[in-house]
This record gives sequence, structure tokens and C-alpha cells, in this order.
Amino acid sequence: MAASEYGLLIDYNWCTGCHSCEMACAVEHDIPIGQFGIRVDQFGPWEIGPDKWSYFFVPTPTDLCDLCSERTEQGKKPTCVHHCQAHCMEYGRIEDLAKKLANHPKQVLFAL
Ligand code: SF4
Ligand code: SF4
Repeated sequence: MAASEYGLLIDYNWCTGCHSCEMACAVEHDIPIGQFGIRVDQFGPWEIGPDKWSYFFVPTPTDLCDLCSERTEQGKKPTCVHHCQAHCMEYGRIEDLAKKLANHPKQVLFAL
């Protein structure tokens, strides 16, 4: 199947900002320091109203992401998905992931 049929769904509402996905990806793909297959960015904390704060992390795959093709061809999960202890990353068919994307906000769907 073409890689473009598959993607990553990241439910960043539950992302803790632990950076495990970044590290796992860099080790698996031997990515040099300063470059990323996936990068976790922090937004906030910002006060957006009385006693209301915005503070979240968003992991974003980059052009170095190949959706862990070697692993997935062997039936394994991408290493970022495998190492995410918040279980907020999922690999699968874009068609299926898009249905889950509709379930609630604060998610990112990535495809090659
Ligand atoms: S799917 Fe693989 S290559 Fe892509 S961000 Fe995750 S670990 Fe890196
Ligand atoms: S491993 Fe999971 S919880 Fe940790 S930064 Fe990445 S997506 Fe967020």
C-alpha cells in the first residue's frame, strides 16, 4: 500500500510534552542533533481570561518522517507511537483516522 494511505493521528489534548516521541524517532532514524523527525512545541502558559490559562504541547512530524516504513512493513507500530506513554498517538489508515479526528478537537492528522 502507498504510504499516503497511512498517517499519524495525534491527540495533543493529552500530550504531556515529555518529548519521548522526538527522542525515539531521532534514535531509530539516526537524526542529528538539531533536526527532528517529529518536534514537540510548547504553547503558553498564556492567561486568556480571568483564571483561565492556555498551556499545551503540539507534536508535529517533519519532512524527515517516513512513517517508520521499515517498522510498519514488519507489522510494528512507528517508534513514536510505541514510546508515547500518554497513548495519544495512533498510526493507521487515513480514512479510519479521519473518522476519529471528527470525534473531538485538539488533534493533528499527518500524512506523507
Ligand atoms: S512515524 Fe517514525 S519517522 Fe515519523 S515521526 Fe514517528 S518515529 Fe519519526
Ligand atoms: S511521546 Fe506522546 S506525550 Fe510525549 S511529547 Fe510525544 S506525543 Fe506528547
